[in-house]
Amino acid sequence: MEQQLKQLEQEALAKLQAASNLKELNDVRVAYLGKKGPITDLLKGMGKLSPEERPKMGALVNAVRENVTAQLEERITILEEQAILEQLEKESIDVTLPGRKVRQGNRHPLTRVVEEIEDLFVSMGYEIAEGPEVEKDYYNFEALNLPKGHPARDMQDTFYITEETLLRTHTSPVQARTMELKKGEPIRIICPGKVFRRDNDDATHSHQFMQIEGLVIGENIRMSDLKGTLDALAKKMFGDDREIRLRPSFFPFTEPSVEMDISCFKCGGKGCNVCKHTGWIEILGAGMVHPNVLEMAGYDSKKVSGFAFGIGAERIAMLKYGVDDIRHFYTNDSRFLSQFHRTEG
Ligand SMILES: [Zn+2]
Repeated sequence: MEQQLKQLEQEALAKLQAASNLKELNDVRVAYLGKKGPITDLLKGMGKLSPEERPKMGALVNAVRENVTAQLEERITILEEQAILEQLEKESIDVTLPGRKVRQGNRHPLTRVVEEIEDLFVSMGYEIAEGPEVEKDYYNFEALNLPKGHPARDMQDTFYITEETLLRTHTSPVQARTMELKKGEPIRIICPGKVFRRDNDDATHSHQFMQIEGLVIGENIRMSDLKGTLDALAKKMFGDDREIRLRPSFFPFTEPSVEMDISCFKCGGKGCNVCKHTGWIEILGAGMVHPNVLEMAGYDSKKVSGFAFGIGAERIAMLKYGVDDIRHFYTNDSRFLSQFHRTEG
């Protein structure tokens, strides 16, 4: 019996050494130490032994069990460590591999247009002024010489929040607010921002778009100052050889009012599809600040004068980048937006 026990111990230890994973170790444990295993069988058979032999045999069986159990635990620890190392090996990073390219975004074409215009005017000593997009009727219309019932209000139908509150139709209320704030002091600002109209969206109209307006007020501000400023703007946005022309127009808040055209940057004035074969492209509206607007904001229209202009950022971007549908700017389609990577300067 002792011989049998020794043999079982050797077998169990050999199988523990041979086991290559935790499952195999467990199989060995069940086979040799389990309730139905040979060692348990041996213990059960101890009843047949003489009373003198029993304690000796009992001690032997226990020693074998302890030895096998100790070996089993050691093997479990070793195999677990191995498994962790293998896992780490598998998950290790090959630092010599080239990195995955991170897709880099770029500025939105409208943002670029606005920033270019801001840069130009800041370099000419203008400040950038901003104001609320949800505006009072007073600042959006009345302070700009557009009293309630004025027919020109129809051209700028908007979204009303209440009778007296609306989504601004232009950034001109920022001008009105600045004039009120400066209390007769000279002003030189541009106001970029979102504006809203109740237009049906199509290739050239959007119910929301970006405007950049400018306002200069001071002594002896003349039409020629306006013309020189617009000329600098046209050259900055469309090239140094652009010429401008001013045509008479009407806006309630300026008098006189003008539309500014630039000589076509595509054909140079000969006529093409961009300029509709006229050689000129309409760019923006401008004019000398109406005396009523000055007076309403507390300026003495006999002592100071000023000019104002308003540019649609979308119109500039469409012309500059050859975009044929204004809606492209708002759909967030990366196929459209990624085209501006190349020209990012
Ligand atoms: Zn042309």
